Amino acid sequence: MSLRFHVWSIGCQMNAADAQRMTDELEQYGGEATTKLDDADVVVLYSCVVRQAAETKVHNELERIRHIKEKHPGMRIALAGCMVEDDTQRLAKRYPFIDRYFSPKIDLPLRDQVLDFLDLDAPYRLDPADAERVPIISQPVTISQGCNRRCTYCVIPFRRGRERSRPTADILRDVRALVNRGSKEVVLLGQIVDRYGRDIGTSLAKLLAEVSEVDGLERIRFLTSYPVDFDRGLMEAMASLPKVCEDVNLPVQAGDDEVLRRMARGYKTDLFERVVGDMREVVPGLGLSTDIIVGFCGETEAQFAHTLDLLQRTRCDVVHVAMYSERPGTASPQLWTDDVPLAEKRRRLHAVEELQERVSRKINESLVGSRQEVLVEGTHQGKWYGRARNNKLVFFEDEQNRVGELVPVTISSASSWSLQGTRRRPASPAALNL
Ligand code: SAH
Repeated sequence: MSLRFHVWSIGCQMNAADAQRMTDELEQYGGEATTKLDDADVVVLYSCVVRQAAETKVHNELERIRHIKEKHPGMRIALAGCMVEDDTQRLAKRYPFIDRYFSPKIDLPLRDQVLDFLDLDAPYRLDPADAERVPIISQPVTISQGCNRRCTYCVIPFRRGRERSRPTADILRDVRALVNRGSKEVVLLGQIVDRYGRDIGTSLAKLLAEVSEVDGLERIRFLTSYPVDFDRGLMEAMASLPKVCEDVNLPVQAGDDEVLRRMARGYKTDLFERVVGDMREVVPGLGLSTDIIVGFCGETEAQFAHTLDLLQRTRCDVVHVAMYSERPGTASPQLWTDDVPLAEKRRRLHAVEELQERVSRKINESLVGSRQEVLVEGTHQGKWYGRARNNKLVFFEDEQNRVGELVPVTISSASSWSLQGTRRRPASPAALNL
């Protein structure tokens, strides 16, 4: 019987990317993915500790595994992602059943991680062509690891280490392999993706140009961006490379300069607004998302109101909002108390969500009647769905399976979260006059 494995992940896109790569790798060794933990011979967990809520979910999963492993002592467990600290002793004491730790600071090739973990010999590896796979249309590709910034709330740099870019050749090899297996879009990932290449004498703009050359690849996205590092050259590369989508994720975190200073973000709101203004000028049709933390240490009602004002002015397409969650080991707990009560954090979270729901609905409604190019990813409740270039989720009906195709869709209605469309061309003004 073949090896059954269960790969679980939570948190950021990087974890999702690593989990996907691990799944691919294990399949190449003849493994068979199972969604049921109870059935697995091998379990790999990509953990997240960016907020307490995520960390708690990882602990719950580990407790579940503790019980299952009592019944299946042969089951092998690996823990990856940001729960893995430099010193794994504390974790090993709490969860003695974990067999391996994959530190996000160590860029061990997957093949070595797997061989080490499974005690397999390389000859067991299948030819990739032997494995029958349904292509995943849009695939994440990690292009840099780690982060050199020290935002006072953020634990990621402590767990993922210093910033390091992957060589362009390795990235191109990954992208080509994905395209050969049917993928049409890649999402290039880094903590501050705009800084790609600064340590190895290249740049994200150059990488985008090289990835654009991959035949069969239709679209390129990248995230997460950082206001200070998003330069004009990158905007111009976006505008001039047809495969690069008009889509940017630019976290601002707060709309108040004093809060930004305490977060050690290294910019003020006016810089953020200037960068957004430049982007919109250089890249028409841009889809913009941002991240906000509400209830950071000492955030007053008036400071929070500045965040709402900024969001009102900037009019992002999507806002990811989270309540501040104190992370041990970061600077903020040493400097300030986590003094915004939970109920107040929740109220602020909802205030952002409500405002954004209105803004998003207005933006989306303004797209009704427009023609959007959709990369079809799959079906949901009898409709095809995919993303427009600006990253809007679009649903439409069609008799034919168009998964993996770029399809022009006329938008007929909109909500805050998605667009509905039709394959029919919009009625021409002349036709309407008849
Ligand atoms: N490198 C990115 C963010 C990575 S973490 C940046 O420069 O912003 C993803 C998101 O999680 C962040 O944008 C932030 O909004 C949120 N986040 C990070 N630490 C947090 C914390 N301690 N509490 C609440 N949200 C947090």
